[in-house]
Amino acid sequence: MKILVLNNGSSSVKYKLIDSDTKAVLAEGGVEKIGLPDSFLKFKKPDGSKQVIEVSMPDHKEAIRQVFKVLTDPKDGAIKSVEEIDAVGHRVVHGMEYFNKSVLITPDVIEKIKECYPVAPLHNPANIIGIEAVTELLPTTPQAAVFDTAFHQTMPAKAYMYALPYEYYEKYGIRRYGFHGTSHRYVSKRVCEFLGVDAAKQKIITCHIGNGGSIAAIDGGKCVDTSMGLTPTEGLMMGTRVGDVDPGTLVYLMERLNIGAEELQEIIQKKSGVKGVSGISNDMRDIEAAIAEGNERAKVALDMYEYRILKYIGAYAAALDGVDIIVFTAGVGENQCDLRERICKHLGYLGVTFDDEANKVRGEEVVISAPDSKVKVVVIPTDEELVIAEDTAELVKG
Ligand code: AMP
Repeated sequence: MKILVLNNGSSSVKYKLIDSDTKAVLAEGGVEKIGLPDSFLKFKKPDGSKQVIEVSMPDHKEAIRQVFKVLTDPKDGAIKSVEEIDAVGHRVVHGMEYFNKSVLITPDVIEKIKECYPVAPLHNPANIIGIEAVTELLPTTPQAAVFDTAFHQTMPAKAYMYALPYEYYEKYGIRRYGFHGTSHRYVSKRVCEFLGVDAAKQKIITCHIGNGGSIAAIDGGKCVDTSMGLTPTEGLMMGTRVGDVDPGTLVYLMERLNIGAEELQEIIQKKSGVKGVSGISNDMRDIEAAIAEGNERAKVALDMYEYRILKYIGAYAAALDGVDIIVFTAGVGENQCDLRERICKHLGYLGVTFDDEANKVRGEEVVISAPDSKVKVVVIPTDEELVIAEDTAELVKG
């Protein structure tokens, strides 16, 4: 089946057209700056080259219309007509406790995604705008929602509850939900296929470390804990997000700077993390370059970033009562060989021994632990879009 996978942000749309049977990516691209005068669409042509088209896209409907135009372009398009799209799969960020798996979109599903707005004010409204735009443009094409939070719904209460008054959980659904669930699900399943082991018997720690980052503890295929919380701000130090911080600090900052929720949000989401500490960038490549030039703050930022990953791996090895497999994925996990090496060389206490040669690979499936290692450490490039396409195809087939 030909599945169009859409990831709608507040001013962007990323798309991939995937053949769910062969897993082939037939077309991919994205729209940025929707609603701004300089909005543009970029996409990969069949020969692999990239093209950028500047075109006015005042809203998501127009953006998706432009995506359809490119997809059906007589010269560079992957399909002749939009009728060839069998279904559309949407990445939806927050499903609270409503969704523990992917679902076909119905009016009731749309209502529930809207009920999650208060806990995902930046993401879920954009996801709904995308769903509504597709409904208008392709009214008879089935659509599915695949949630970032769904995979983590198997966590036990001791892992997902916050020690706040219980009524806030009951009234407002305040608890840990976790994100990047589609990625943690994909890499934890894929690593078992890759190693030829039975997923039901493995204790796995998956490290999704990119610009956003989260770690999950997975026992027999089920998530038992994860580092992100009610929002994607908790846990690891990220590109620009703060991660774990004493909640008292936030109250103190609000008082000290005399700021409200919006300004605090800006600080913890966009001005913190690697960028905030280093004062340089949220990109680890820039941080490594700055360290090479002797920048001390960049070194502190990188040390903090790695230390948090190590602490979570230790915590989740304890939560799982041991660990069989550790997976690295996402931009940093797939590409930063030096970081992987430094982390693995701190995991000797778990029985990890390291293969320096194997670790030189970037962006490929590879075992980076030595053959005698008690714990297998593996790099698995993530593929959230493939999971969305496969879930969507399965739901449509019924
Ligand atoms: P993601 O959010 O998964 O796309 O990851 C983005 C981050 O991955 C970037 O900010 C970089 O820090 C890191 N990254 C991506 N590509 C590379 C690379 N080739 N080498 C080192 N780091 C990379």
